[in-house]
Amino acid sequence: MISINNLKDRSHAERVARMAVERLNDIWECRDEITPDHTTRVPPKLLDVLRHLPRTNCGECGVSSCMAFAASLIEGERCVEDCPPLLEAGMEEKLVELRELGL
Ligand code: SF4
Repeated sequence: MISINNLKDRSHAERVARMAVERLNDIWECRDEITPDHTTRVPPKLLDVLRHLPRTNCGECGVSSCMAFAASLIEGERCVEDCPPLLEAGMEEKLVELRELGL
């Protein structure tokens, strides 16, 4: 089951839908190499997510602080791509770390 909520507008919905399709296609392509993992996923802790954000509180993501953005990431209301500074050169390591947290 896939659930997506709190999208800003049609363009945001299209971007999130494209990402979901790409991820599902990647999974399908690797299906023979995948071993099912039946463990329960524990959401990352707020401070662990915040540690990997730029922490400038610039507001470009549409929320007032990186802390608020971290909370919305954990809730699944936003995706890491909603933070423009994270997509800039030099931030690749933070992006990988956020992915490793399951975001
Ligand atoms: S855009 Fe990124 S750096 Fe700026 S406030 Fe939002 S989370 Fe923080």
